[in-house]
Amino acid sequence: MNTKAAVLYESGLKRPYEKSHPLHIESVELSDPGPGEVLLQIKAVGLCHSDLSTINGNRPRPTPMVLGHEAVGIIVDCGPSVSTVQKGDTVSVVFVPSCGSCVPCSEGRPALCEPGAAANGKGTLLSGDIRIKGASGPVHHHLGVSGFAEYAVLSERSVVKIRDDIDYSIAALFGCAVLTGVGAVVNAASVQPGTTVGIVGMGGIGLNALLGAKAAGATNVVALDTNPEKLKVAASLGATDCFSADDPDVAAQIKSKYGGLQTVIEAAGIPAAFELAYTITSRGGLTVSAGLSHPEKKISMQHVSLVAEERTIKGSYLGSCIPRRDIPRFIEMYRNGLLPVDRTLSGTLALDDINQGFENLAAGSVMRQVIVF
Ligand SMILES: [Zn+2]
Ligand SMILES: [Zn+2]
Repeated sequence: MNTKAAVLYESGLKRPYEKSHPLHIESVELSDPGPGEVLLQIKAVGLCHSDLSTINGNRPRPTPMVLGHEAVGIIVDCGPSVSTVQKGDTVSVVFVPSCGSCVPCSEGRPALCEPGAAANGKGTLLSGDIRIKGASGPVHHHLGVSGFAEYAVLSERSVVKIRDDIDYSIAALFGCAVLTGVGAVVNAASVQPGTTVGIVGMGGIGLNALLGAKAAGATNVVALDTNPEKLKVAASLGATDCFSADDPDVAAQIKSKYGGLQTVIEAAGIPAAFELAYTITSRGGLTVSAGLSHPEKKISMQHVSLVAEERTIKGSYLGSCIPRRDIPRFIEMYRNGLLPVDRTLSGTLALDDINQGFENLAAGSVMRQVIVF
């Protein structure tokens, strides 16, 4: 069948994106779903910083590619031997497919699935196949999803069935921003009630980490960002203290006020953000890095403090989540008012306006924008 999709042909085009049009809206051909694959009608898909990182070249991926990895949709067709979902199911997508049988999958760490990571790196589905064809040949899949399209073919191991009574524009957020941000706090950091949590970077992941920290019972949640507008949003979502990450004295101010923060989440994906997060972590504390930076970037930190202060540094991918367990769990927390993720939504837009949407994201003027179909 044919479907309308947003195709990236070349990374690194100059801004503003509403002029350079890095994403081409065009008709592409989708093959029928193969064994273990499903055809999904996309209902809503979020614009994430990881998509932007592929557009601006920070996160290199094979092109051409249909981006989009934070989506919700309805299964309209199943290939042979699909066993975990059926036609008519509402599903959240997961941007790392999990094979279920490699060593990390067997250890309950599907975010680290080895065949999943290999397929994502090559821009194929978990099967190794490409099911999208454009005018000039095969078009790669983004993280096994390619949700900037009216329809997509995915592995059944890239979807999780969810309840069907959540507004699509909200439901989409659970596939990436909520999973990554809340998961970093509750899974990777295991934040305890009554503790103090710092978050560096108040984009989609950082705001969800903030909501997760509040839900987990953190007494103080300290927000840091270079953008004063984002700090205002953080304060409105419950941050108890806000600091400009640009201020050269910021670490000293936090140390004098709190003596260091027990848990600090880095959610900006740049080395300076990690270094600041590490610096403001307390003696014996935990620094969790959840932002993805360019593969050539290195971090610098004081070595002796790691040992003499018994610090812990931890990476967290996909919120260290088990999506089949955590997506439904986080949706129930939203329904009970514990995770007001709807408040991170800036607005909705049409697929045709996607380049303007990414310009808004690059300019830092929005929180989460979601394309609805
Ligand atoms: Zn994302
Ligand atoms: Zn696996």
